[in-house]
Amino acid sequence: MNLEFGKSVRVGVVGVGKLGELHSKLLAELALERKDMIFSGVFDENRERLKAVAKKHNTKAFENIEHLSEECDALIIATPTSFHFQVSLSLLKKGKHLFIEKPITATPEEAEQLIRLETEHSAKIQVGHIERFNPALVAAEPHLGEPVFITAERLAGFTKRATDVSVVLDLMIHDIDLILSIIQSPVTSVSATGASVFSDEWDIANARLEFQNGAVATVTSSRISRAKVRKMRLFCKNPNAYASLDLTSGKSEIFKIVPIAETKERKRSLKEFATEKILTMFGEVEDVLKGNTIEYFSLEAPKINALKAEQESFIESILYQKPIRVGSTDGKKALEVAADIVREISKRRLKT
Ligand code: NAD
Repeated sequence: MNLEFGKSVRVGVVGVGKLGELHSKLLAELALERKDMIFSGVFDENRERLKAVAKKHNTKAFENIEHLSEECDALIIATPTSFHFQVSLSLLKKGKHLFIEKPITATPEEAEQLIRLETEHSAKIQVGHIERFNPALVAAEPHLGEPVFITAERLAGFTKRATDVSVVLDLMIHDIDLILSIIQSPVTSVSATGASVFSDEWDIANARLEFQNGAVATVTSSRISRAKVRKMRLFCKNPNAYASLDLTSGKSEIFKIVPIAETKERKRSLKEFATEKILTMFGEVEDVLKGNTIEYFSLEAPKINALKAEQESFIESILYQKPIRVGSTDGKKALEVAADIVREISKRRLKT
């Protein structure tokens, strides 16, 4: 569906649970801030929820998805993952542009079908892999070299929401997508293990991914944790650097090994005495650094509301043909790796 030049895009939300309500809140804000976007309304199968969210965010509650879609050019799908496919199917056939929350669908086969319809009906799909917009990553990205080893940890408390899928599709999918976007090389091997504790699906999982270029990533995700953690550590070459990203606070720290002479030249760009402090932090490394030193950056997170940034990116891809940041192919790639991980966990658990 191509919009005429100068026209506004009309956006609606399907599924206004926890995330759908957040989308609605931000769309209502955006509609006030931008002249090129209209928040048409919302639909949810749960009538009470539908009415409450529509009232709270001053938008229209539609009786069914057909009526909502008639008044929209684009829709955000925030139903539970197992319904993404079914809901998206009919909307794509009408040529509607879709922002589908992560993961794109429950299976790669479903994703493939949506991608076919996206092309056939000249629609656009963006997938809600929100971490690509995470301030910590955005700040660190220019300083990262070529990652050879990544560890990611994502721990959260238990909630009944999202137990229609395993923790791999619920939480780990965020890190899988990030890792695939950072390591630009095919995955050659996957090994994984996991356990079901409170739900009928895997609630905790650990996976090791090996890439054709020799890079390795290990990922741990849990939705039965007492602590809330979202961290990623990257060990890079060219330059030799270590990055530690706190995806919750948005803070990132970068450590780089650089020749002392180079550091002196750049001294003014370093935080005062940072190098000396870091040498102390790492222990007795001075002798082994052989004319090099450790340069340290503590990067302040830019003020980004990642969900709003995703929405704006979606709107601008529709109105101004800007490239989609996380498209359906990326969504499917992450899902394929997630499906491999789930398969590996199931195999291992059958043996034990
Ligand atoms: P939720 O259970 O809180 O909300 C889902 C809502 O969808 C409910 O209100 C339910 O009544 C409604 N619904 C179910 N089937 C429907 C249908 N066929 N048509 C219309 N409405 C329907 O779930 P949630 O936590 O908001 O998660 C929703 C989606 O968002 C999931 O895909 C999840 O993976 C994703 N999510 C993404 C993030 C993120 O960080 N990007 C965070 C949480 C959830």
